[in-house]
Amino acid sequence: MGEITAKRDPENGGTIFSKIIRKEIPAEIVFESDNVLAFKDIHPQAPVHVLIIPKVTDIESARTIDPKRHAQLLGDLYEAANSIAKQLGVFDSGFRLVLNSGPDSGQEVPHLHMHLLGGRKMNWPPG
Ligand code: 5GP
Repeated sequence: MGEITAKRDPENGGTIFSKIIRKEIPAEIVFESDNVLAFKDIHPQAPVHVLIIPKVTDIESARTIDPKRHAQLLGDLYEAANSIAKQLGVFDSGFRLVLNSGPDSGQEVPHLHMHLLGGRKMNWPPG
């Protein structure tokens, strides 16, 4: 399995997202629960661009989801997505959820994250 090495946090294990979870670096947080954190992407690709992540740091991408172990967490991520879409005013107009998974997808950060993109008409196929 191709490994994603960029944006690792070698001092503590984990990635740059671990630092955001621990509030060691700032992020514009839009949603937080016991097991999910969501914050605005630092390089937004749409008027609304939020990253929704599990607080556990051991899921590299969709490739390493264990459906049995992570079923509740996955439900919580999608529930958060709908809630955030409503909160940020894109639920009715529609939005895109993206899970980049592995090198060819363009994934940079090896910590499972869902991109929520909205506020403009999306193109298909994606680049
Ligand atoms: P990927 O390409 O791995 O699917 O997406 C990673 C996303 O994380 C990118 O859209 C990138 O802009 C965002 N990102 C990377 N580092 C940071 C950061 O330190 N803060 C925030 N808010 N977003 C980040």
